[in-house]
Amino acid sequence: MLPTLDIQYVKGVGPTRAALLQKELQVSTVGDLVRLVPYKYIDRTIVHRISDLVEDMPYVQLKGQIVDIEEEGMGRKMRLKAMFTDGTGYVELVWFNGIRIIKKNLRMDKTYLILGKPSVFNHRYSITHPEMDDADAPLVMERRMQAHYHTTEAMKRAFLSSRWMGETIQQVLAQLSPTDITDPLPEYIRQRFGLLDLHKALVTLHQPPSAADVSEATRRMKFEELFFLQLDIIRQGLSRKVSTRGLPCPCIGEQFNTFYFSHLPFPLTGAQKRVIHEIHGDMKSGLQMNRLLQGDVGSGKTLVALFTCLIAIDNGYQAVLMAPTEILAEQHLATIRQFLEGMPGIRIELLTGNVKGKARRTILADTAAGKVHILVGTHALIEPKVQFRNLGLAIVDEQHRFGVKQRAALWEKNSTAPPHILVMTATPIPRTLAMTVYGDLDVSIIDELPPGRKPIQTVHYRQNDRQRLIAGLRYQLQLGRQVYVVFPLIQESESLDLKNLEEGFVHLSEAFPEYRVGKVHGKMLPADKEAAMAEFASGRTQILVSTTVIEVGVNVPNASVMVIENAERFGLAQLHQLRGRVGRGAEQSYCILITRNELSTTTLRRIQTMVESTDGFVIAEEDMRNRGPGDFEGTAQSGMPFNLRIANLTKDGDLMALCREAARNVLEHDPEETLPQHQEMWKHLRHIKKFQKDYTGIS
Ligand code: ADP
Ligand code: MG
Repeated sequence: MLPTLDIQYVKGVGPTRAALLQKELQVSTVGDLVRLVPYKYIDRTIVHRISDLVEDMPYVQLKGQIVDIEEEGMGRKMRLKAMFTDGTGYVELVWFNGIRIIKKNLRMDKTYLILGKPSVFNHRYSITHPEMDDADAPLVMERRMQAHYHTTEAMKRAFLSSRWMGETIQQVLAQLSPTDITDPLPEYIRQRFGLLDLHKALVTLHQPPSAADVSEATRRMKFEELFFLQLDIIRQGLSRKVSTRGLPCPCIGEQFNTFYFSHLPFPLTGAQKRVIHEIHGDMKSGLQMNRLLQGDVGSGKTLVALFTCLIAIDNGYQAVLMAPTEILAEQHLATIRQFLEGMPGIRIELLTGNVKGKARRTILADTAAGKVHILVGTHALIEPKVQFRNLGLAIVDEQHRFGVKQRAALWEKNSTAPPHILVMTATPIPRTLAMTVYGDLDVSIIDELPPGRKPIQTVHYRQNDRQRLIAGLRYQLQLGRQVYVVFPLIQESESLDLKNLEEGFVHLSEAFPEYRVGKVHGKMLPADKEAAMAEFASGRTQILVSTTVIEVGVNVPNASVMVIENAERFGLAQLHQLRGRVGRGAEQSYCILITRNELSTTTLRRIQTMVESTDGFVIAEEDMRNRGPGDFEGTAQSGMPFNLRIANLTKDGDLMALCREAARNVLEHDPEETLPQHQEMWKHLRHIKKFQKDYTGIS
C-alpha cells in the first residue's frame, strides 16, 4: 500500500466516510490517516469500583451488570437510561442517539466492561454514551493500552468513533511496510536529536507495548510538528526581512528630547525604556518595523506609543494611532493632547465616524498636506479617502479587534515604502506562544507596572453571598465610587444571557433606588451604547450593567469596583482584561467574582488563580495550561501557519527551543532549498501548509 493512496479505497471507508474525514480532520490519504496519533491511552487492565468514584475523574472502567432499562421523553428529547451496578454502587448510563439499536442490544444477563467519564447528576453518577464491551470476550482484556483518537461531533453522528478510527488505522498499518513511509525529518537531524524514525514511531503510538514506549515515540512526533512550525515561521521571516525596505528613522530629535526632558510628568519604567529602545532599533534599521508590543493593562503602553510617534515626527514623518472604538480613540486623543501640552509644534487630530462635514474635510486636507502630525482614530483611518503626505508610522491598539488584512491596508498609505507598524495588545500571552502565533511580528514586552499602584483586591463570592455583595457595593457607592457589573454573553444562549442581564439591571435598580443604573450590551444601537458609556464616564450613572463590550481599554478612573457575574463562564484571560478596567485611580479597587454555589475543583482552582494573582502573564500561563492554546482569546488561529495536534506550547517550550535552533540551522545551510537531503522535508512542508485549518472543533 502506498501512503499517497486515497483513503476512500481503504476497506471499510468508501467515498462518504472519506469525504467526512477530509472535511473534519483534513485527512485524505493513507499517509495522513496514520499520522492521526492517539491523544490518550487508557490502561484497560485497571477496573474501578463504583464506590471509589469521585468527581472530576477523567475516564473510568467499570465491570458489572445492567439491572434496569427505561426510555424517557418523546421525539427529539427521547433518551435511554440503564441502571448499572458492580455490587458497590449504582451508575446511570445514558444515551441520546442511536437509542433503538442500543436498546435492542442491551442485555441484563451479561457482564459488561464499560468505559466513560462519570459526572454527577441528581446526586448520582452517570455516564453518557459509555463504551461497552462484553467482559467475557477474550479480546477485550488483551488490549492493555487502548488508544483513543479525536473525533468531531459530525464524525460521532456518522458512527466514526474513536474505536472505528483505531481499527481502521490498525488495518492500514498492517499493510504499510517501513520503506513505504518516507520520513520528512532528515536522517542527520534524527541522529543529532536522538529521534525514532517515522515508521517506528507511528507503529509504537498506535499499538504501544507499554506506557514507556509512548513517550519516546511522542517526543519524535512533537519534534517533527514543532520543527516544521519553526521552519515555516523562520523561512517566512527571512523572506519578509529581505524584501521589505523601511523608512529610515535614525534620528532622536528635538520633539522627542523636549518631551522627554521637559514635559514627561514621571520617570519611565525600566521596561518602557527598554521597549522604546527596541522600537528605535527597528526604525533606524532601514527595514520596515513589524513589532508587537505586549503589556498588561495599565503598564503604560500609551506613553510608549507617544514616544514612537515622536521618533517618526523627528524624522519628518506623520503617524497614525488606530483604536478599535470611538470612545477609545477619543480617550487616546485626550491623553496625548494632555501629555503634549506646551508643545505647540505638534498637531494632533481625531478622525472617527463622528467627525463630519467641514471639520472632517479640514482634517483630511491638512493630513494630506502634512500639517497634521499625529492622526488618532478608528478604522475610519483605513479608508482610501484618508491620504497622507508622508506617513511613516501606524500604531494599532488592542490588536485582537483588527485582522491581518486591516493591518495590510495601512501599508498602502505611503507610496515610497510601507510605514513602520507597531501593534499594541493587553492580552498577555506566554513567550513561547507569542514567538509562534505572531510569527510575522517581533515581540516586545512591558513586564513592569509603574510604581505605586495599589494592587486590585479580588474576592470570590457565591450566589448565596448576594446580601453581602449589596452591602459592600452600597459602602463603595457611598464613598462616591462607581461600579461595573458584567454579565457573560455567550453566543449559543444569547437570549438567555440577555435575560440575565436585564434581570440584573432591574434587581440593582431596586436595590439602589438612590443611585442611577445604566446598561450597555451588544444588541443596542451603537449611538445608544456610546451614550450609556459616556454617562458612566461622566459620573451621571453610578452603576453600569453590561456585557463584555466594556472589555477593551475604557478608562473611568473613578470606577473602583468590578463585579463579574457567572465568573466561571469566562476564560481567565478575559477575567483579567475585565478586572483591568478598575484600579486606574488612586483608590483601592476591588474585583468581585460571583459564581454558582457548587463548583468543580478545576473551576475553583481557576477562580483561585484570579484571587491570588494580578500578573497577566501568570494568569495567561495558567489559562493555557487548563484550556490549551487553541482557545486562547484573541490569538486563536490568528497567526499560526498550522495548528498543533500533538505538541503543546505550554509544556513543550524546551523542545520548541531545540526545534527553532534546528530549523535555523537548516535554513542557514540550505537557503535556496536545493540540498538533496532536504527534499522530503520541503515536500512535507508544502503538503501540511495546504491545510491551514483550525482544529478547535475537535473534542
Ligand atoms: P495601558 O494602555 O498599557 O493599559 P496606559 O498607557 O493607559 O496603560 O497607562 C496607565 C496609566 O499609567 C496612565 O494613567 C499613565 O499616565 C500612567 N503611566 C504610564 N507610564 C507611567 C510611568 N512610567 N510612571 C507612572 N505612571 C505611568
Ligand atoms: Mg491602553
